[in-house]
This record gives sequence, structure tokens and C-alpha cells, in this order.
Amino acid sequence: MDWLKLSTIRINSIYNGLFLGLCYICNTKSKTTICKHCHDNFPKNEKHCLHCKRSTHKKNILCGRCQTSPPQYQLCIAPYRFEGIIKTLIHSIKFNQGNHYIRPLTYLLSEHLIQIYSSDSWPDQLIYVPSHPNRIKARGFCQTKAMSDHLLKNLQLKIGDQCPFKANNNPLRKLKHTQAQHSLSRKERLKNQKNSYEINTPIAKHVVLFDDVMTTGSTIESCTKLLLESGAERVDIWVIARTPDKIDQS
Ligand SMILES: [Zn+2]
Ligand SMILES: [Zn+2]
Repeated sequence: MDWLKLSTIRINSIYNGLFLGLCYICNTKSKTTICKHCHDNFPKNEKHCLHCKRSTHKKNILCGRCQTSPPQYQLCIAPYRFEGIIKTLIHSIKFNQGNHYIRPLTYLLSEHLIQIYSSDSWPDQLIYVPSHPNRIKARGFCQTKAMSDHLLKNLQLKIGDQCPFKANNNPLRKLKHTQAQHSLSRKERLKNQKNSYEINTPIAKHVVLFDDVMTTGSTIESCTKLLLESGAERVDIWVIARTPDKIDQS
């Protein structure tokens, strides 16, 4: 067999057939990267605010904040809650060199996206929320870059020419090494985020902003504002998981 002539896709499929074919979590035989049994136990974000995807007690409602001052993004996609196995997998990617979990998580997100964008127009540019260079140096990699690279590959393989993203050149830079957001009030968080990011090249009119987890939403909101000020007319948000920090009673 002339291995040099094999395309990357073919090599991928041979590799998967020979060495994978196992669930990434429980290691049992599975046709998908995460078996049905494991996926059934994933915390799905089913009851959420229609706009910001914050956990709510009822389905199909707007949370109190979105009724008064909704964030400026147009669409937010957050298929899981940041708890249980999802939290373990994302923490493992960030802190315990669990990079192999990037593949199944971004695969699941891309399946979700394909379903949603079957009746909407895909964004023209994929932008991710980057870590500060000091953090990348300490951790050895930027997890949102690694995740968005995989997401791009998954979408290119799944939807081919329909995939609008060709390369992953991120125009968004983090300038300030900000302190942890969850210990701050909303006002402090927004102040903390001000001038934390910059855009250094022209951007498309319809962009998507990707982050692994949305916690308070203030990073996403301040980056959305910056994207809109920098030429975007529509910003969509894609995150793997939304932190169910406070259940909105509305
Ligand atoms: Zn499994
Ligand atoms: Zn909301």
C-alpha cells in the first residue's frame, strides 16, 4: 500500500477503524466517539433562557435580564450545562493534559451546530476567545484555539463546501491578565473586562465567537461589543457548556 498517496481523510478513517472504535470515556466498543450510554448521562442544557441560554426553571422563556437588557449577540448555542461529566472533561483538558477529550466534545458541538444552522445562515468567520499569552505559556497551549481548530476540521469534514471557515486566523487578542471573574460583582466584572481584548484585523459581517464555557457571560458580552464596534453586524455565540450559576426564577 502506498501510504504517501492516501489522503488525510482516508488515514483518519483507517486510524479510527484500527485503533479507535472505542468510546473515549468508558472504552467500550462504539461507532461514535462517545457511546450512547455515556452521552445519555451528559448534563444537557434543556431548560434555559431563549436568548442567553442561562438555566431557568421553565422551557421557552426569557430570563429576567434578557427581558430588560439582553446581551447584544443574536444567537447563543450552549448544548450542555457545565457540571458533572462535562465539567470533568473540560477541567481535564485545561489542567490535566486531557487533550484527547477535545475531539469528542467538539464533535458533539458540531453535530448540534449542523442541526441548528440547517435553517439559518452559517457565520462567515470563526473567532475564539483567546487566553492571555502568559496563561498560554504556563499551560503550554490555548485550549480555545485547540478546540476551535478541531471544530473547524469537524465542520469541514461533515458539511464540506458548505463550511464557510477555511482557516483559523484569530483576530482577537487578550491584552490584560484579568483576575478570576466569578468572585466579582456584575459591575466589577464589566469594568474588569474593559479594554481586555483587541481586534487587530478586519472581520466579517457575520461572525461567531467561540468559547469553551460561558460562566457569568461578561467576557462573551464584552467581546461581542468589541466585535460589533469593529465591523461585525451579527455575532453568534458557540460554547460547549453554560455554567448553571444561578437559577433564574422568571
Ligand atoms: Zn461510553
Ligand atoms: Zn437570558
